[in-house]
Amino acid sequence: MSELVNLGSFCIDYVYSVPSIVRVGETLLGTGPVRHAGGKGLNQSLAAARAGATVAHFGRVGLDGTWLTDMLAEAGVDVAGVHCCESHPTGHAMIQVGAHGENAIVIVAGANHHIQPDDVARAIARVGGDGWLLMQNEINDIDDVLAEARRAEIRVALNIAPVDGREASYGIDAVELLLLNELEAAVLVHETDPHRALERLTRERPNQHVVVTLGAHGVLYGRGHERIWLPAFEVTAVDETGAGDAFIGHLMAAWFENMPVRDRLLRASAAGALAVCSPGAAQAIPNAAMVQSFLAAHQ
Ligand code: ADP
Repeated sequence: MSELVNLGSFCIDYVYSVPSIVRVGETLLGTGPVRHAGGKGLNQSLAAARAGATVAHFGRVGLDGTWLTDMLAEAGVDVAGVHCCESHPTGHAMIQVGAHGENAIVIVAGANHHIQPDDVARAIARVGGDGWLLMQNEINDIDDVLAEARRAEIRVALNIAPVDGREASYGIDAVELLLLNELEAAVLVHETDPHRALERLTRERPNQHVVVTLGAHGVLYGRGHERIWLPAFEVTAVDETGAGDAFIGHLMAAWFENMPVRDRLLRASAAGALAVCSPGAAQAIPNAAMVQSFLAAHQ
């Protein structure tokens, strides 16, 4: 079955407005919180579903996160594999935003770091012959999941984001599609030039598809000696959060369709460009029709 199985994170962003970022020992009166749905896992499932893919999401929320699973379900994502655990809160972020837009963020992994072997086994068993397992770097024990996936001989797409030091030890030979931005590529191979980082990655694993996104500078793709660079679409960006998630969701949906890699990247780039034109992350992710009309207007 051509289904995307996303073993992915959830996050609730709690945004507090403060006159200035609180200093050591200081107590300030703020307003909020304003609550937003997030997490790279949730965003990418939402993006793939909006792009028209069949998506099943696996992962964990706490009792405070059932509204996130409802949100995915409303978008057409199969959430039967999402476990609600009573012992941990949903992954969340406490974000202070000062009067001049400056911010300070505390992230709590919560239930995202309590994925159990049973969740992994069920997610892997769900991936059919034409399916993909997708992950981001916001859950626990990714190395174990990669080892299990290799044993099961399923196709794996890994978005190594955000980088947090764990990725250095990952067995990424098991990954068929590696997705990262230029900063993440730099950390992974200790090479700040994204072209050279791509050289390193493709030399180490010549059969792996590697996609390095460059924000407003576009996207680089490599596999073995094959190279593609696509410039970004020229748009007026208002909020760049979530561009990568919109890009990846639409890319995964395009990967299920029989089209040249360049066209898959083009679709994903259009989704990323549209995402930066609206505020927020999840709510800024476009659907397939929006991407199609954007591409028609920009060709
Ligand atoms: P991430 O959010 O993971 O850092 P990027 O910022 O690299 O991801 O963005 C992913 C893709 O979205 C880019 O490769 C590009 O196609 C598109 N994109 C991002 N920022 C812009 C922008 N300012 N203008 C046009 N397209 C953009």
